[in-house]
Amino acid sequence: MTGRNMQTRRIAIFGATGSIGINTLDVIGQLGGREAFEITAVTGNANVAALARLAIEHGAAMAVTADESRYSELKQALSGTGIRAAAGTSGLDEAADQGNDVVMAAIVGTAGLAPTLKAAAAGADIALANKECLVSAGPLFMEAVKRGGGMLIPVDSEHSAIFQVFAENQRRALDRVIITASGGPFRAMTLDEMRHVDAATARAHPNWSMGLKISIDSASMFNKALEMIEAQHLFDLAPEQVEVVVHPQSIIHSMVGYADGSILAQLGSPDMRTAIGYALSYPERRPLSVEKLDFARLARLDFEAPDEARFPALRLARLAMERGGLQGAVLNGAKEIALEAFIDGRCGFLEMAEITGAVMEEMRDLPAAAAIEDVFVADGEARRRAAKRVGD
Ligand code: NAD
Ligand code: MG
Repeated sequence: MTGRNMQTRRIAIFGATGSIGINTLDVIGQLGGREAFEITAVTGNANVAALARLAIEHGAAMAVTADESRYSELKQALSGTGIRAAAGTSGLDEAADQGNDVVMAAIVGTAGLAPTLKAAAAGADIALANKECLVSAGPLFMEAVKRGGGMLIPVDSEHSAIFQVFAENQRRALDRVIITASGGPFRAMTLDEMRHVDAATARAHPNWSMGLKISIDSASMFNKALEMIEAQHLFDLAPEQVEVVVHPQSIIHSMVGYADGSILAQLGSPDMRTAIGYALSYPERRPLSVEKLDFARLARLDFEAPDEARFPALRLARLAMERGGLQGAVLNGAKEIALEAFIDGRCGFLEMAEITGAVMEEMRDLPAAAAIEDVFVADGEARRRAAKRVGD
């Protein structure tokens, strides 16, 4: 561990062009830039111009677009720079296997699962933003990281908070984890009003600035649903040990309760760079230019119980946690299709949970996954069934 400060760490950034990816590059700059980190690869998808620009600006050795049809465009944009261009699954696989010390896993959705598994198997530490890895493939993903020998450090702010106050040596005294939720832009809306909202209103998060899909998932609380399942696997919890409380200011990022009545919490400004910085500096804490909390100005913190009638995603998460097996993969796969349909205006806001719940019912008797292929099959089947319902 001590040698780590002295030498540069090799890092690959999956999803470098996204919200977490850009914040990660900013944090790397604050943590010593090229003195501290050697960027082995940056990856993106359709926006190859932005990807090439980031690769050049940050001196990455390689840039990968997941979209194979854009390979020549990327190659062209990087010509004469000495930066290697690659594309598709083979490009992502290559990026995962560069002798990385750490990989920032920040691709959005199930697309992040295969490359992150590859990086874990290659032995890199995984800074995990892509919650879908744990939601869809929980036990298999945890096992893959363990076998690879790297560490798994959460980047999702709630899980980073829990990780920071979770005393593994006190596991027997662990009572519960309490995940905070802002409640999103529709926290105070009636069910009837929610029926008519569109993607433009749903994406406007009150506290956090994030990618499109996670912003809408925050409005439906599907994001919190995914985070409940993520916490279950990450911290090896029983479903009843995972609680959610609505906390509109997003200052307490989550809490851990122990058997003696103590609750430990992590607080901070709602800025993802704190969680990213912690994941990249762990076990140390390094200075970051994030806004300091001013308690006198804050004056108050509010809390309320989550409303499962208006936010049925929470109930679906509870079902998935209790049923276990492939229900997380089914929930996530069906939800991603419903979410895309909502973004395109083909499905109503409340319908997202209706479709997801119906597909979960149809697929509730699947045996648990024996191998990662089972996860991809269940995910694909859940998508097909959800797409059929969207079309109905
Ligand atoms: P984003 O939409 O801003 O960025 C997504 C990244 O993934 C981009 O680089 C994009 O090019 C890439 N990508 C998209 N589709 C792809 C595909 N099919 N194959 C390969 N790459 C693809 O998303 P984000 O907000 O940065 O979120 C990234 C992940 O981090 C998500 O899993 C999200 O749930 C999680 N997360 C984000 C935040 C946040 O504050 N943004 C917080 C916690 C967790
Ligand atoms: Mg979160």
